[in-house]
Amino acid sequence: MGLHDAGVPDIATNLAEVRARMVRAAADCGRDPGSIELIAVSKLQPEDRVAAALAAGHRLFGENRVQEAEARWAHRRADHPDLTLHLIGPLQTNKVRDAVALFDAIETVDRPKLVHALARGMAQSGRRPDCFLQVNTGAEPQKAGVAWAELDDLFRLAAGDCGLPVVGLMCIPPADDPPAPHFALLAEAAKRLGLPRLSMGMTGDFETAIHQGATQVRVGTAVFGERAPKR
Ligand SMILES: *Cc1c(COP(=O)(O)O)cnc(C)c1O
Repeated sequence: MGLHDAGVPDIATNLAEVRARMVRAAADCGRDPGSIELIAVSKLQPEDRVAAALAAGHRLFGENRVQEAEARWAHRRADHPDLTLHLIGPLQTNKVRDAVALFDAIETVDRPKLVHALARGMAQSGRRPDCFLQVNTGAEPQKAGVAWAELDDLFRLAAGDCGLPVVGLMCIPPADDPPAPHFALLAEAAKRLGLPRLSMGMTGDFETAIHQGATQVRVGTAVFGERAPKR
């Protein structure tokens, strides 16, 4: 974290450090670091930190909530046509239209009702954001994500019947579990389904995720510093 001003992290330095750690993790397991993207998770972060990330040249961001993301990013598209935005939080069907309009990828597709709503939203708008199926790998009752037992059916519905552009799988392992086995199972499932992309790994475990095949890591705190408490 930067030291130039108490409490204000040096975002450019943080980004460079996270990238360096990603390169080392890739090297450790013989992977091409160019095959792994850094999604900077900007949810609940103050504007000046987001502006600093943009000034440092970063263009790939993740947000949890549709409305917060709209307020933060919609007006920035004109100045930054190369922005790429991923939705990484739960999506309610009544927000699907807005989500399809704003995001380039939706990482939290986890139930048939949402698949149908996305298919309608994409047909109406002509926009086709990449879709990831989120798997509740730890079978946590309170957590979003499709159960393992229902993953194949959801995949067939989404990619087959509804024609969504499904490109990969995403997971958030249980906070108290070692994450590696969850990541390994997700990688195995993606391979079996022929899906090329794997969204896994956060500040605490992104190197482990890279070792297990992550093609994109979602890093908030290590890039931006601590978040404001949830509103
Ligand atoms: C908040 C969040 C992250 C980033 O978490 P950090 O621990 O701050 O890196 C990643 N993925 C999802 C789904 C999140 O909600």
